[in-house]
Amino acid sequence: MRGIVMAAPGDVRVEEREDPKIIKPTDAIIRLTATCICGSDLWPYRGVEPVNHTPMGHEYVGVVEEIGDEVKTLKVGDFVVGSFVISDNTCEICQAGYQSRCVHAEFVSQTIGTQAERARIPFADGTLVATPGHPAPDLIPSLLAASDVLGTGWFAAVAAEAGPGKTVAVVGDGAVGLMGVLAARQLGAERIIAMSRHADRQALAREYGATDIVEARGDEGVARIKQLTNGLGAHSVIEAVGTHESMMQAIRATRPGGHVGFVGVAHEGVSLPADELFFSEVHLHGGPAPVRRFLPHLIQLIWDRKINPGKVFDLTLPLAEASEGYKAMHERRAIKVLLSL
Ligand SMILES: [Zn+2]
Repeated sequence: MRGIVMAAPGDVRVEEREDPKIIKPTDAIIRLTATCICGSDLWPYRGVEPVNHTPMGHEYVGVVEEIGDEVKTLKVGDFVVGSFVISDNTCEICQAGYQSRCVHAEFVSQTIGTQAERARIPFADGTLVATPGHPAPDLIPSLLAASDVLGTGWFAAVAAEAGPGKTVAVVGDGAVGLMGVLAARQLGAERIIAMSRHADRQALAREYGATDIVEARGDEGVARIKQLTNGLGAHSVIEAVGTHESMMQAIRATRPGGHVGFVGVAHEGVSLPADELFFSEVHLHGGPAPVRRFLPHLIQLIWDRKINPGKVFDLTLPLAEASEGYKAMHERRAIKVLLSL
């Protein structure tokens, strides 16, 4: 089968990879219908994370082609959406809603790589969720978004306790930040402040439910959030970048007693000052999103056409042109690139 491999930073190739096979009785083999490029795929692309002939991709929707003997909830021919982390969905951690830290957790990105024609998904019952039927083609981008960016933005909003009566600020206007805006709206937030300085992303943020836009960043951005909240700060802040600056901006924009939901992958250089944290009196909750927790609900919202997260894909390319997709995202010409098969 064909699959995307990153040979070295900036070097994205379509290569012939070995066809996946059932190894364990809990596995399923899926044929991908669509996949995409994640903001986190840009870390190795830019040489920030090591990469050496690595199979790429961790977002996916597709059709079940083959199942192991112990797979019970899926059958051949089902259309499925999967999480970017493998989970059994039965251990104590999964049952508590943290499937991304399952005792059997495995990241789809480093070993499996779903920027490919087919993929082997371990713990298929605990990782994949079947849709009510085969989706109309226009629903596919939204279902694909549920696999990571929507689930991640949703977790961030839940972790930040977005809800009725709350003012929510969102740091980061990439796909995940925009999904955080959508999630905060769905969870009933009263006011949603999107922090963005790009006109196209501001427009999408407004469409997804943002009531205010703040262009300022850093301390100036924090001052602006305080101005908009009677000097108190937001009740809920979603952090969707992962740098030291964005984390500090999120913490400082949160009122005492408020909540920060952080889902930007933290990289080297993020160090939180304990003394400032001590006096901030904010709740911090984040990490790799347990997308599997939210998948059944998100699939239903998409199926009923109540949300349209697929609009974050502003460029679609065939899998064979993945290299151009990486370049477009790296150069910020695209918010998120869908790869069709
Ligand atoms: Zn588990």
